[in-house]
This record gives sequence, structure tokens and C-alpha cells, in this order.
Amino acid sequence: MPTAFPSPVPTIPTTPLTAQLRDAMRAIVGEKGFIEDEHGMQPFITDWRGLLFGRAGAVVRPGSTEEVSKVVRLCHEHGVAIVPQGGNTGLMGGATPWPAHTGIVLSLGRMNRVLDVDPVGYAMTVEAGCVLETLQETASRHDRFLPLSLGAQGSCMIGGNLSTNAGGVQVLRYGNARNLVLGLEVVLPNGDVWNGLRALKKDNTGYDLKHLFMGAEGTLGIITKAVLKLWPAPKDVCTAWLAVRDPRAALEILSEAHAASEDNVGSCELLSRAAVDLVMRHIPGVQDPLKADTPWYLLLEWSSSRPRQDGADGMSEKLEAFLADQFEAGRVLDAVIAQTVSQSRNMWRIREAMAEAARAEGPGISYDVSVAISRIPEFIDKGLKAVLDILPSIRPYPLGHIGDGNLHFSFMGPIGMDQQTLNQYTAAITRAVNDLITSMGGSISAEHGIGIEKLDELSHYRSKTELDIMRTIKRALDPQNIMNPGKVLRV
Ligand SMILES: Cc1cc2nc3c(=O)[nH]c(=O)nc-3n(C[C@H](O)[C@H](O)[C@H](O)COP(=O)(O)OP(=O)(O)OC[C@H]3O[C@@H](n4cnc5c(N)ncnc54)[C@H](O)[C@@H]3O)c2cc1C
Repeated sequence: MPTAFPSPVPTIPTTPLTAQLRDAMRAIVGEKGFIEDEHGMQPFITDWRGLLFGRAGAVVRPGSTEEVSKVVRLCHEHGVAIVPQGGNTGLMGGATPWPAHTGIVLSLGRMNRVLDVDPVGYAMTVEAGCVLETLQETASRHDRFLPLSLGAQGSCMIGGNLSTNAGGVQVLRYGNARNLVLGLEVVLPNGDVWNGLRALKKDNTGYDLKHLFMGAEGTLGIITKAVLKLWPAPKDVCTAWLAVRDPRAALEILSEAHAASEDNVGSCELLSRAAVDLVMRHIPGVQDPLKADTPWYLLLEWSSSRPRQDGADGMSEKLEAFLADQFEAGRVLDAVIAQTVSQSRNMWRIREAMAEAARAEGPGISYDVSVAISRIPEFIDKGLKAVLDILPSIRPYPLGHIGDGNLHFSFMGPIGMDQQTLNQYTAAITRAVNDLITSMGGSISAEHGIGIEKLDELSHYRSKTELDIMRTIKRALDPQNIMNPGKVLRV
């Protein structure tokens, strides 16, 4: 199989798993928690996109924090490398071991218990291997809301979400994963357990350690439990699909929507026509909400935790009046408001099936970037020009969480071009996109992280001071570099 790991390969520990170590791990996690046959390991060593094919000595699946701690301590004592893994839906290769990896993949999937739900205190304590959608449903059963929401929610796990500081479609209102956490439990690279599982809103006792581990992509330790914040469950939700004049109009609509909705904008997603067409081509059963063939669309959702009151305007009446004004102002060209849950789901399916559709279409490149919200239109114009100058037949399909200043600046390869040929242009395109976003004060990674894919981009764009601080932290916690080596930083 062809594989797309960047070169040069970083230095990683390659201590092999001896027969004694295998026996010792099996004794800790039991037979069902230890996989060492090639076939069984395949899903754990291949990335979601099917681009990276790594290797491992074994996949270890502990069932408790104690087991994680014992396995990590054993690895620490023998210098064996560990790749922590949740749902393996990350798009940057962070959960995929390098082909030179001889250590273990430590999968959190068996640690999937909800330990406590506190509806009065708006908090929930969970194990790291809980699937995000299961947690959303658990919160909902208690009339509460866990706002983290993304296309992979049926398989990604909360430990992975926190380790990537995931974003998704509700960041605009609730913040990213980092903002949804009160406390954490983490197994450190030497096997010690840090119990920071506090449900405190206020806690100014020195450095806030939980923020070290969130967004660290498993390079500093293994998140085993978390206390998550909850919100009141939405009771009145209205979803609309808008054909908009251009990205500038989309931003103006969002800017006006905050006040018009009485601060109830939940989501605001920008999609290009090419992105919508991609989904229409590959995802069965999805309907185009508007027949209008315009270049830009906005998926706008307003939601309130206040139930609709008889006789009073709810979200849909307010949104309808707002859209009429925006139509008058020339920003909205056409619009439809979902009248049923299934119409709303269809609109969301278009947005959330994008990665799946792109994977089905063939070779492509995608940049997950952010910039000050008001500069998004400028970035789109300049970025498209820069990329098309390099490869005129490339097919752009930009989309993004416009309310977060986060674009998925995405391209399908020219029709008929294979991945290997496209790869010949990737370095130049990456440099052009990342130089532009950096010159505009933006970030080369908004929500997907660094993983393997952006390893060298991070060191290219972050200052020496920042990299030195990151390396100092990494070396202090993981002097042997056994915890997800060769990810985020070259140490
Ligand atoms: C269809 C689709 C849509 C997506 N949409 C979004 C989106 O809108 N927003 C977004 O931000 N992302 C999105 N993603 C990317 C991905 O779903 C997120 O990055 C998600 O948070 C990863 O969770 P996971 O459990 O799959 O983690 P994994 O892929 O298993 O791991 C991700 C990283 O975290 C580390 N890790 C995993 N678990 C732990 C743990 N318990 N402790 C320490 N380290 C750990 C891994 O080593 C790796 O570096 C999408 C992906 C897909 C496939």
C-alpha cells in the first residue's frame, strides 16, 4: 500500500516488545485487551483517511485507569513507545503510529463508562473512551446539553476530542473542547496518575495543569477521565439554509444575527457550491435544500433553551423576519427554513458528510486554517488565486465554521490526477496557503491539530521561543520521548 508519511522520519524510540513484555501486558489487561495479530491491528494502525499505514508491536486496550497506569509504567521502565488512541478519526495522523514504531497503540475504547451525571451542577464525569454521541445522548436524557458536535461524533471519543481540543459546529456559542472541561485525570509518561478530576468552576491554585494535556495530542500523557460542563437543553431550534451573495455577505448576516436572535445563534457554517455538489455526488439520500445554483451557502441555526410560548414569536418567526430583512439588504439571495426535524437533519448531513464525500471523490488536499473573522473573504480571494496559480486545474471546495474564523480551505485534485502526482504540487501549495494565512495573522491549524501532517509546518511557523517552551515541557514530562513520539514536535 502506498503511504504518505512526511520525511525525514523523526527520531523515535524503537525498543521492541519482547515476549516477556507481551506476557506482562497481557497479564495486566487480559486476553481481550491485547491484540497482536496483523489483521486485528489493522484498524488501529491505519488513519481515517486511508493515507497513513503505520506499524505497532501490539494494540493494548486497558479497561481502567489502574490498567493504563500499569501498562504505561511498564513501557516507561523499558523505554517502549506508546501511541494513545481514541476513535481514530483524527485528520492529522496523530493517532497513527509511524512505520518505524515498535511499541504499542494504547486504545481507550474499553474505558467507556459514564461515572456520574450531575444535572443540578451541570456537570458529567466520564471515562476517556466514551463515544461523543453517547455522551450527547446521556446529557439529553437528563435534560442537559453537551455542545461539542462534529461530523465524526458517532465514533470519535471524548479523550480524543480533548486531546485535539476539537472544535466543530457549536464553537461560536460554547467555545471549543477546552472550554467544556472542569477537570481531568491523566496518566503521565512514567505511569503516575494525576488526579485533577475536580468539578470546580473556580480554582486558582497555581498552574492550570489540565490545559497542558488538552490539545497536546497525546504527547504529554493519557487522558483517562474528564469532568465535562453541561448546558440547558435547547427547546426551540430553527435551522435555515441560505443562498448568500458572497462570503462578505455571510459575515454581515452573522454579525446582524447575534442581536436579531437575542444571542441565540448556535451555528453558522459557510459552504461553497462545489462543496455541496461533492456531497450530492457521493452521499446517498441527501437532498439539495435549494435548487438555486449560487456559489455560496450558509447553514444557520438559532436555538434557545426557552420553550416556545403560545402566542409569542419563537426562533422560526424571528429567523423568518430576519431573513426577510437580509433579503431586502441583498445579502440573502434565497432561503429555506427547515419545517421538520428531518429537513433540519438533511441540512446538517450536507455539512457533516463533507469529509466522507471528499474521501470518496479521490485525492485532495485540505487546510484547516483560522484568521480574524472579518478577514475571511480576503483570505478566500487571495488563497484561491495563490493555489490556482500553482495548479490551475485543481478543484477548490472551500467551507468552514465562519463564525470561528475557521475555514477548511479544501481542494480536490484535478480530474484524473492520482495522489502521487498531486503530491508533487502539495509542498508548493502548502507553503503558499500557510505563508498567506500567517501573513494575515492567522493560524495554520484551527481545530484539527498538528499530528504527523503539520509536524514541520509547526516548527516553520512558530517562533523559537514558543518551540523552546513546548520542547521544555515535553522533555520535563517525557524525557524518554515515549509518549506519542514523532507527533506535534520533533524533539
Ligand atoms: C467526518 C469527520 C468530521 C470531523 N469534523 C471535525 C470538526 O468539525 N472539528 C474538529 O475539531 N475535528 C473534526 N474531525 C477530526 C476528529 O474527529 C477530531 O480530531 C476528534 O476530536 C478526534 O477524536 P478521536 O477520538 O477520533 O481521536 P483520535 O483520532 O484517536 O486521536 C487524536 C489525537 O489525540 C490523541 N489521543 C486520543 N485519545 C487520547 C487520550 N485519551 N489521551 C491522550 N491522547 C489521546 C491521539 O494520540 C491523537 O494524537 C472530523 C473527523 C472526521 C472523520
